[in-house]
Amino acid sequence: MDIKNLNKKIKRECKKYPLCKTPKVVPGEGNSKAKIMLIGQNPGEEEDKQGKPFVGKSGKYLNKILNENKINRKKIYITNVVKCKTPKNRKPTKKEIEFFMPFLIEQIKTIKPKIIILLGEVAWQVPKQASQIKGINAIYIKTYHPAAAMRFSKIRQKFKTDFKKIAVLIKRKI
Ligand code: URA
Repeated sequence: MDIKNLNKKIKRECKKYPLCKTPKVVPGEGNSKAKIMLIGQNPGEEEDKQGKPFVGKSGKYLNKILNENKINRKKIYITNVVKCKTPKNRKPTKKEIEFFMPFLIEQIKTIKPKIIILLGEVAWQVPKQASQIKGINAIYIKTYHPAAAMRFSKIRQKFKTDFKKIAVLIKRKI
């Protein structure tokens, strides 16, 4: 199944899940042949409005960091662990993460990225889940969530340094 059809399936399946009853299902967007995949936590208000990942405040900050490091957003694939907005933007529960994880794993298997950048601690759980799945041979890079980088200067410094390193790795590996 290609990513377009997989995302259609994800929309259909996730819509049955209580968390996604009212909000939109935001499966992800980007290049279907992306070598780089970026994974966040869950869509927020603006993402829910537009049906696209990282288009709100933290998305704008992420775009700035991507631009500074000459990483073209159009060439990568961006998604989240949890595919729907959570009430009052609360952290997703363990159960919710468990429900959505297999859909993300399917997306990884379909896109076959070489590098997967994990934004924040919910996304940091991906490698453990994906390690049991055959056919995923990506390098994982953990960094902070852009929302945390925007709020806290120490995290921001770390986030910026991480992205500089990521840009070097991309040049070397891709
Ligand atoms: N935060 C996320 O983790 N993902 C989005 O898509 C937007 C904000």
